[in-house]
Amino acid sequence: MCRHYCIFFKEGQKEEMACRGAEVVEKLVLLGQIDMNGLPHFDKNCLLWQKYAKILAGYICATCPFRAEDCDFMSEEPARSEAGIEPCGGFILLTLLMENGLIDMPGLEKGL
Ligand code: SF4
Repeated sequence: MCRHYCIFFKEGQKEEMACRGAEVVEKLVLLGQIDMNGLPHFDKNCLLWQKYAKILAGYICATCPFRAEDCDFMSEEPARSEAGIEPCGGFILLTLLMENGLIDMPGLEKGL
């Protein structure tokens, strides 16, 4: 669902290896909070990653198994602001949905 936006996803990857961002997106789709069929194509926007980083760090990344060792975007270093470092596709898709008014905080919280 968020694979299209994700630089980390590799075809054939095991589903159980999904990061927290992907899990939340999947749950929101199952709950009908996200209609994947009705979504327009979004372009990635790194400004949104910065804008929503603090909110999603607490809601999504805090419980992600990849945060500690594998996610440069959420590392303790100030890498987040460096060019070329992306969050996962789930994180990216959620920022795009929030920015475009397709999901709000109460809706997001249903996927946690
Ligand atoms: S941005 Fe990093 S820590 Fe946050 S959900 Fe994605 S992979 Fe996990």
